Amino acid sequence: MTILGHYRQIGYLFQLVSHGVFTRQIVALMLLVWLPQTHAAWVEKTAAVMGTHISVELWHPNEARANQLAQDVIDEMWRIDLLMSPFREESELSRINRQASHAPVHITQEMYQLLKKADGFSRLSQGAFDITFASVGQLYDYREATRPEPKSVNALLPMINFRHLLLDPTAQTVAFAIDGVQIDLGGIAKGHAVDRAIEHLKAAGVKHALVTAGGDSRILGDRKGRPWNVAIRNPRDKKATIVLLPLANSAISTSGDYERYFEADGVRYHHIISPKTGQSPSQLRSVTVIGGDATTTDALSTTLFVLGLKKGLKLIGSLTDIDAVIIDSQGKMHYSKGLAEPER
Ligand code: ADP
Ligand code: MG
Repeated sequence: MTILGHYRQIGYLFQLVSHGVFTRQIVALMLLVWLPQTHAAWVEKTAAVMGTHISVELWHPNEARANQLAQDVIDEMWRIDLLMSPFREESELSRINRQASHAPVHITQEMYQLLKKADGFSRLSQGAFDITFASVGQLYDYREATRPEPKSVNALLPMINFRHLLLDPTAQTVAFAIDGVQIDLGGIAKGHAVDRAIEHLKAAGVKHALVTAGGDSRILGDRKGRPWNVAIRNPRDKKATIVLLPLANSAISTSGDYERYFEADGVRYHHIISPKTGQSPSQLRSVTVIGGDATTTDALSTTLFVLGLKKGLKLIGSLTDIDAVIIDSQGKMHYSKGLAEPER
């Protein structure tokens, strides 16, 4: 087992050899560390919202209050789902997609700010992160295993460009510069929801919490004297953990090619789309980003998946207090400079 220290975290990164009995023993040991403490005021709630698994664990001196706060977190996820789901006709996102090519659409401040943030990640990544990917992305149906003809992809490819989104800060509106543009916030909305939930808990005086929405988590404080262990799973084996990150006061997001995908003609079509090609990048299997807030780690994990190993690590290297663990198409692990062997 390799143990790697992390310069900004309290924790270490444990790399587990991915096969053999030895590994399973280590995993079992680590699971023991995961068992919740039996303090009466630790509460845990889970739900299925935003098409994914939501969980919250928090500590509060008053158990009734703890339960209420955990419920608040789930409610907040529902609120954001109603606002940002592409599957709800009445969501603000769907309204934008219906109307913004005709005229500027007045939007909530929350939506405006998130669109602005998404635009920032597009600029930072020179278009690798681009919520207008949906102009082509909407043609894929991962559940039905259907994909567009190459000629439809090529016809719609020019509609993918974050510069087509016209944001007016004074009027608080968004407009699409051309017809056929569609947006989707799947690469950033869960991180945003997790951040909102954590802000709420913080404001309520909570000092120890973990909030997770699918692959995006944020940790408030520590677990009363010890870190929270966040696992990175083996992208090709649901049950196997390849890395454990003991963390406190951090956000962590994983993007993988195994969540929503289908295979056809030997190609894996998954839910991350390269804005350049309109197709799924195949260079990596998973990207995990560790940072201060979940909106950033969520957007960056998707971004790095599109950028690939070399450009991805270069981008991470240019940012402060952000790290990444990348599993390539051969199953090999790579990590950023902030994750290094500790001094013994
Ligand atoms: P998950 O949704 O499993 O947490 P990610 O955070 O990696 O995974 O986000 C994947 C989602 O991001 C996709 O389902 C899609 O909604 C969106 N997406 C796909 N490609 C891009 C892209 N190039 N830029 C921005 N968002 C994208
Ligand atoms: Mg993401």
